[in-house]
Amino acid sequence: MMEPTFEFTAGSLCLDFTNGLGSRLEAPADSIRAYSDLVAWAVQAGILAPSQGQRLLEGADREPERAADAVRRAARLREAIYLAFSRLAGGRPPREEELQTINRLLAEALPHLRLRRAEARCRWEWLVPEGTVDQMLWPVARSAAELLTSDRVERVRECASETCSWLFLDGSRNRRRRWCDMASCGNRAKARRYYERHHRS
Ligand SMILES: [Zn+2]
Repeated sequence: MMEPTFEFTAGSLCLDFTNGLGSRLEAPADSIRAYSDLVAWAVQAGILAPSQGQRLLEGADREPERAADAVRRAARLREAIYLAFSRLAGGRPPREEELQTINRLLAEALPHLRLRRAEARCRWEWLVPEGTVDQMLWPVARSAAELLTSDRVERVRECASETCSWLFLDGSRNRRRRWCDMASCGNRAKARRYYERHHRS
């Protein structure tokens, strides 16, 4: 089976998570369809080693209910992150329900965070208990919490395309980037405007 390939262009792990696992406009909100999608995304994001991903997929074959539960939790987290940052991009604060969903995940995730010495300094590491199936959601929840509490939150935008709802961090100098990706969404919109200008009777 071909593995799906995901894009990582948003400038933030939590935004890549909401973008990568299906478009909200093309599919229902719970568009993460399979546990294998979730694992493939996390491996490509670099938050799971390929060998860890393989072990998780083998575990999912043995315990499909637990894998299905992880997919539902991922879909809820994704929806909460999307709604919170979409509101912020529109100049409105996130709602309490969205924060509750992210907070619940944080409360599970953060007790597993450890310091590990890495050469001259330290880095964060997740200590994952045996049998965990949704550890890929922990760094996503942490990324959302960090972005929500950072100055960078003012640069979160939602793509201006009518057929795209991707979120991204605007890193442009004048803070006026409108498209998630100029090469696809931006050019499509430009072509449409050109067409409309030149084909109006
Ligand atoms: Zn777009």
